[in-house]
Amino acid sequence: MTSDILVIGGGTVGAAIGYGLAQRHQKVTVLDGGDRDYRAARANFGLVWIQGKGANMPEYQLWSQRSAELWGNFSAKLQNLSGRDLQLEQNGGFVFSLSETEFEARRTALQKLHNELGGSADWEMVDRSRLERMNPGVTFGPDVYGASFGHQDGHVNPLFLLSALHAGIERLGGKIVSSTQAEKIRSDGAGFAVETQTNTFRASRIVIAAGLSSQGLGAQVGLDVPLRPQRGQILVTERLTPVLPFPASGLRQTQEGTVMIGATNEDVGYNVTTTGAGAAKLSARALRIIPALSNVTLVRQWAGLRVLSPDNCPIYAQSETHPGAFIAVCHSGITLAAIHAEIIAQAVLDGALPPTLEVFHQRRFNVSKAA
Ligand SMILES: Cc1cc2nc3c(=O)[nH]c(=O)nc-3n(C[C@H](O)[C@H](O)[C@H](O)COP(=O)(O)OP(=O)(O)OC[C@H]3O[C@@H](n4cnc5c(N)ncnc54)[C@H](O)[C@@H]3O)c2cc1C
Repeated sequence: MTSDILVIGGGTVGAAIGYGLAQRHQKVTVLDGGDRDYRAARANFGLVWIQGKGANMPEYQLWSQRSAELWGNFSAKLQNLSGRDLQLEQNGGFVFSLSETEFEARRTALQKLHNELGGSADWEMVDRSRLERMNPGVTFGPDVYGASFGHQDGHVNPLFLLSALHAGIERLGGKIVSSTQAEKIRSDGAGFAVETQTNTFRASRIVIAAGLSSQGLGAQVGLDVPLRPQRGQILVTERLTPVLPFPASGLRQTQEGTVMIGATNEDVGYNVTTTGAGAAKLSARALRIIPALSNVTLVRQWAGLRVLSPDNCPIYAQSETHPGAFIAVCHSGITLAAIHAEIIAQAVLDGALPPTLEVFHQRRFNVSKAA
């Protein structure tokens, strides 16, 4: 029951940090709740995506870019260790425009971000005829005007990623304790004691990475993080022969052949039911892009909750009142898995987040109160 570091939450964020710590020879225990928890790691779209990220915080774009750069190595090492093919493809990805107005608005938004970052272009606008040449197996609907193309964007099998991270932690000597809820966190001179219904787990440092439950857990150690859920519904088709060489925001073909269509953005609280309206909205847009999808059978629909901060950017912090307690919450935990296993894991080990991550501290939400 005693570890060097205890990670609370075994979703993609907690597991990536736990894996990075285990790689750094730490004795890691990951406490992971139950199947009835909200679990974005098991409900997401699987994009490794940087295009357009950080419109309100350029540092988030740089952070995502860095993670995308690390992904190749991260995936190769993890695959080697776990024996699991993560199905990573990082050859670029599209955001389709269904009118000239959408296309020009997209260009303007990406150009603005590009200028703010001092011009590290990783994207280009692609007109319809080029789009057709890049997707020779696809007949696009008449509304498709073009797309933006992010060169570093890609996709992965997010469930294989999660199971590989869990396997990786265990192969490196760490422990995953499933179906176990952290309830109470206490600290004393010797470190932290985390109580579950049946046991007490001790460690000199803890990382709270429990998705939407992080808010209540963080509050126990002076880490007050504002979070909100946002529902995303996803549709999945039957298996098709490979037709989509690149993933797109909202439309990607998996290596098994299914096409994933997603995801809605719905502010409906902690409601994870799927709806006909959600399915209709997703299908309508997908059919405008590729009308031939109307002949394809849908085999699944699910809903999951995004873990969002007020500005949708990540929160990383160490408690000032309980040093040694860290928190890591974000949307885009798939994209950021590589950098979480590197930079965040190293920071937890060092006992301090690097100053460059100060921008992600939750105190940014207190600005008006402080003023
Ligand atoms: C519809 C949808 C689409 C998405 N698409 C993408 C995408 O394309 N690309 C991308 O990068 N990201 C995407 N995301 C986001 C991504 O899924 C998450 O960022 C990622 O799963 C990481 O989440 P997490 O680990 O913080 O939280 P979760 O996955 O929610 O994991 C939290 C874990 O903590 C555990 N837990 C909770 N409370 C306790 C407790 N008290 N004690 C112990 N354990 C506890 C839970 O059981 C759970 O396993 C998407 C999300 C959604 C919902």
